[in-house]
Amino acid sequence: MACILFFGLAAQYGCATAPYTGRSQLLIISEGEEMSLGVQSYHEVLKKEKISKDPQVNAMIRRVGTRIAAVANKPEYSWEFTVIDNPKTANAFALPGGKVAVYTGILPYTQNEAGLAFVVAHEIGHALARHGGERISQNLLLQLGQEGLNVAIANKSPAAVQAANVGYGVATTVGVALPFSRTQEYEADHIGIILMAKAGYDPSEAPKFFERMAKAQHGSPPEFLSTHPADQARIQQLKSLIPEAMNYYHK
Ligand SMILES: [Zn+2]
Repeated sequence: MACILFFGLAAQYGCATAPYTGRSQLLIISEGEEMSLGVQSYHEVLKKEKISKDPQVNAMIRRVGTRIAAVANKPEYSWEFTVIDNPKTANAFALPGGKVAVYTGILPYTQNEAGLAFVVAHEIGHALARHGGERISQNLLLQLGQEGLNVAIANKSPAAVQAANVGYGVATTVGVALPFSRTQEYEADHIGIILMAKAGYDPSEAPKFFERMAKAQHGSPPEFLSTHPADQARIQQLKSLIPEAMNYYHK
């Protein structure tokens, strides 16, 4: 998508650069707007799910999440970590503003805290790189064209709100989030493996997580796989990122 089209938009909208990868992005909603949408989506999801009261699992997810959050460089986020008690759902998500949820069904695949750190860091990577905001921007552009876009954003029109809901997936269809693009997935892997290393988790555990997921593909595939294909290309890419991530890794 050509960012140059949007140079005419108000100063707070337009082009941005994704962290760690340097990819240029089209973003026509502000980060503040994204954060308030993220917080709203989070509370809508939690209202519908069963929250885990298991003290050990909660402590583990808070411990791992807090370490990733500490290296995410987002002082404006107000971090929150919730465990959703649903052993049949292997999934996790992180929304702009620092709202993170892990479904207990993913724990057999993460297996250890480093595996969990990768999943949490990958999801936080989507939020840091503003992938939901990109999707919202693209949806709005498709719906309205450039002229309509200016008006819709200025007025917070129903079209803008609807595009936001679709962008985050979770807001309207709990548990059936739309997949991010392949480019965004690779980027979240890239950011995730660096964040986990910075937080003191061995980055070589990242491809192992997807290898376990790939094996599970043959039975009844876990939910995470419907939005996160665990193919050989992805596993190879993660392996090739280990040397870069190792530069950040201190036990
Ligand atoms: Zn992802």
